[in-house]
Formats: sequence, C-alpha cells, structure tokens
Amino acid sequence: MPTHNLLLLPGDGIGVEVMAEVERVLAFFNGMGKATFEASSDLVGGAAIDRHGTPLTDAALDKAQRAGAVLFGSVGGPKWDRVPYDIRPEAGLLRLRREMDLFANLRPAICYPALAEASSLKREIVEGLDILILRELTGGTYFGEPKEIVTLESGEKRAVDTTVYTTREIERIARVAFDLARKRSGKVHSAEKRNVMKTGVLWHEVVTETHQKHGQGVELHHILADNCAMQLVRNPKQFDVIVCDNLFGDILSDEAAMMTGSLGMLPSASLGAPDASGRRKALYEPVHGSAPDIAGQGKANPIASIASFGMALRYSFEMAREADLLDKAIAGALGRGLRTGDIMQPNMRLVGTAEMGDAIVEELARLAA
Ligand code: NAD
Repeated sequence: MPTHNLLLLPGDGIGVEVMAEVERVLAFFNGMGKATFEASSDLVGGAAIDRHGTPLTDAALDKAQRAGAVLFGSVGGPKWDRVPYDIRPEAGLLRLRREMDLFANLRPAICYPALAEASSLKREIVEGLDILILRELTGGTYFGEPKEIVTLESGEKRAVDTTVYTTREIERIARVAFDLARKRSGKVHSAEKRNVMKTGVLWHEVVTETHQKHGQGVELHHILADNCAMQLVRNPKQFDVIVCDNLFGDILSDEAAMMTGSLGMLPSASLGAPDASGRRKALYEPVHGSAPDIAGQGKANPIASIASFGMALRYSFEMAREADLLDKAIAGALGRGLRTGDIMQPNMRLVGTAEMGDAIVEELARLAA
C-alpha cells in the first residue's frame, strides 16, 4: 500500500476551521486501506509571523519541498494589516509558489446539480458544468520587467507593466494542458490575444507546435481571450480545459468560478514541473481567503478545502476513483439540503462547518460501503 506524505498549512482565520474538516476526510481515506496518508502540520501566514516573525520559515518551506502534496488553508487578517510589506501573511504563500516553482494553476468550475439555482446563469446553461481553467502562474504581465511608475520631465507620470513569455514557459504549460485533457474529455482551448499582442502570437505558435509533439489524442482549439470570456457566459459547457497566460487566466478563472455559486465552493491546485520520477511539486488550496468576518464562529464552508484535497487525490496521487467518490460525497451532502451560510437557499437547512464535514464523511462511508 503506498504511503503519501502531506504537509498541512492551515494558516489563519477560517483556514484553521476548514482544515480540521479536511483532516477528518483524510482519516476516512486512511481507514479505506487504499493508501496511507501521513500528515504533518506547520505554521504559515499570520500564525507564523506571531511565532517566528516571518510568514514562512525555511524549515516549513523545506517540508513543503519534500511533501507529496501541500494542503494550504488561507492566510491574513486585520491583526497583521500593519506588519511590513515584505513579511505580510500573503508573502508566505507567494514564497511557497515561487520557491516550489508552481507554474501551473488549475481552477475547476464544477456546478453541482443541487446548486444550479444559486448561479446567476440559467439552470440549463450551468447544470452539470465541469470545466478546468489552467492558468500560467509564474510569468507574464504580473512579473515582467520593467514594472514601474516613473515621473516624466513634464511632471506627468507614466506606468509600465511588461508582458513577457519565453518558448519554454509556454511549452511547459501547454504540455500540462494536454496531459490534463487526456484524463478528461480530451479537448483544449488555448486563449490569447494574438490579434494585438506579440506574446499572443508566440503563445499561439508554441501551443500549436507543442500540440503536434505532445498532444496525441487531444483536440486543440485556439480562441481569442475576449471571445472566450463571452463564450463562457453564453455556453460554458462547450469547453473542457482552457489554457491561458497569467493575466487572462486570473480573469477567466474568476468568471468561470462564479457560475458555480460561492467562493466557499472553489478548490484549486498549483503544480510544478515533474522530477525524474514524474512527481510534481504541488500545493492545493481553496480560492477563498481567511474570511475574518466569520472566522472562529464555525460558519465557514469547508467544501472548497475538501475539494482541494480531492484534487490532490486526482493530480498528485493517481487516485481518480477516490477523487470521484469524494466529489459524489460532496454532491450527496448538498443533495440532502444542507447548506452553509454562503450557499444558503430557501427551504434548505443551515449548517456549520463541522456539520457539513460530518455529512460529507457520512456520504463517503455510504458510497464506499
Ligand atoms: P475572503 O475570501 O476571505 O472573504 C470574502 C467573503 O467571502 C467574506 O464575506 C467571507 O465571509 C466569504 N467567504 C470566504 N470563504 C468562505 C467560506 N469558506 N465559507 C463561507 N464564506 C466564505 O476575502 P477577503 O475578505 O477579501 O480577505 C480576507 C483576508 O484573507 C485578507 O487578509 C486577504 O488578504 C486574505 N486572503 C487570503 C487568500 C489566501 O490565503 N490564498 C486569498 C484571498 C484573500
């Protein structure tokens, strides 16, 4: 039986509460006997600042580098609003992403049938939606140099952001897209703006070449990013995997995500390059933050974090059947009419974090029996 080593970084605020529910799901899977998960925990964000004066210690980073997967909660909160910029809570997460070179960000948008009414789009457009936005996470407009605001001789100011991509950066994200699509329905849309951007021209060229070399069995479509934004609200089910750069991915993933309801429902994964054994460094986290407005009250929705662990089963541990089981258990808990405050609907039963966790573990036990 394989043993998988996990590092849990609950962080601050509701991160701690939702991670407790992930641990219960972990315990369930340990009891199933298909794999053993050995989890250790460490501090990150404000909790690490309070204890160590830094949002991520070298020791915690070292554990993250060696872990089979890192499960991250959330960081930040008003308590740390005044700490120096370089050691603010979010810097811990950014350091993890940078040092682990997590260049591929996976954001699924899944619409559980029980929540189709909660979407701002019509039920028939979103019901059963299951798409994946793959965003390049370490290059492009957010990191390109020069990045500055300068004062001109006239006294006017000028701001510059630079969008930069190399062949290698585009090729490695395109390969992830094709690998993911092969595990899904085999279709990739590559979104860029080649009509107005040189990076778009290169993106289009390299994705096409990479498809010829490494895209066997995958259907590739190119789409302009603005059209992609439109098509996502017109007919999202035409997509399966959408791959795009850092900036477009930031926007398109939020757009796709909102079709499915609340921030409390949204998992994500960030993956690095495979090592010689094929293992990728990986960090799994809910999209939401530490929610100081509800922290410590047992109200947070744990589904985004539990579904993030589901992504770890699928993408780090080759346990797709168990990941499917967990998705069904989440759908089952929602199907029973249980709702945390963020996804509450008329005639449903309002529950807290632990009760939603209970229901998911019960559903897992029922489905696995
Ligand atoms: P947030 O995601 O924490 O909260 C936004 C709103 O959504 C709040 O009303 C919150 O109560 C609600 N919400 C979020 N997650 C929920 C859940 N699981 N269940 C129920 N309701 C939920 O965003 P914010 O308020 O902009 O930021 C709060 C803090 O979190 C800030 O310090 C911010 O910097 C930090 N933050 C951290 C991360 C991260 O750790 N990755 C991401 C975003 C924000």
